[in-house]
Amino acid sequence: MDRDHDLARARSLVAASSRPLALTGAGVSAESGVPTFRGADGLWRNHRPEELAHVDAFRRDPALVWEFYRWRRDRVRRCVPNAAHHALAAYGRARPGLVLVTQNVDGFHRAAGSPNVIELHGRLMIDRCLDCDFERDEDPHESGIPRCSACGAFLRPGVVWFGEPVTRIGDAFHAAAWADLVLVVGTSGVVEPAASIARVASRRGAAVIEVNVEPSALSSIADVTVLGRAAEVLPALLPNPA
Ligand code: NAD
Ligand code: ZN
Repeated sequence: MDRDHDLARARSLVAASSRPLALTGAGVSAESGVPTFRGADGLWRNHRPEELAHVDAFRRDPALVWEFYRWRRDRVRRCVPNAAHHALAAYGRARPGLVLVTQNVDGFHRAAGSPNVIELHGRLMIDRCLDCDFERDEDPHESGIPRCSACGAFLRPGVVWFGEPVTRIGDAFHAAAWADLVLVVGTSGVVEPAASIARVASRRGAAVIEVNVEPSALSSIADVTVLGRAAEVLPALLPNPA
């Protein structure tokens, strides 16, 4: 199947939808220069992210975990949202009911102006207290292990770590049950519960469009997979009211 044909089919599914849901992963930010985890760029000093993105790792060696996250923050701070984030934001203005569920922690969907963003894995650029509800914006000039100004415990990055419950999962599944279209962009489909969000919507009868540079674990439930980079495909696929 050639890409123009797939794109035309995907466009007609978009046009027929009134309750769309978008599910995005690290691939949507790849062209901003933020590395994906499963790509060649996925290691930091020979540590796999899974070894560092865990509360046990933080308790064992908070300085090391902070060093890893400060490195990730530096990378994100040097990047900006790309054409894929902007196309999704414009789509959200064209279809105000659009719910955008992301696994990304870089905040680029909000920065691009998308309404209704559910950030399942939290936010890289905020600090949260290990013990209480306190949170604050990052201080990029800080070093060492920051402490909570409310209770004195260590602060940690505001991301969801392995083994922790994701944020607003109820809202995400609610949107999945109600959606008539799911647009899956740049996600490997192997991280749960994000992958299940697409599966639940599909089982409830939603059409599924996938945009990825290669087939993924979710390709089998996609009505159409448009192979290509998100920043090229999404502006060609989505309506833009501006
Ligand atoms: P992943 O790294 O497992 O998979 C990325 C997917 O994107 C792959 O399927 C790949 O083929 C695809 N891809 C790569 N470049 C692309 C492009 N230009 N256009 C379209 N698709 C492209 O990412 P995931 O499935 O999102 O899950 C991994 C976890 O990593 C999540 O928990 C997420 O929180 C975290 N993570 C987030 C960021 C970020 O915030 N930007 C970056 C890396 C990892
Ligand atoms: Zn606290």
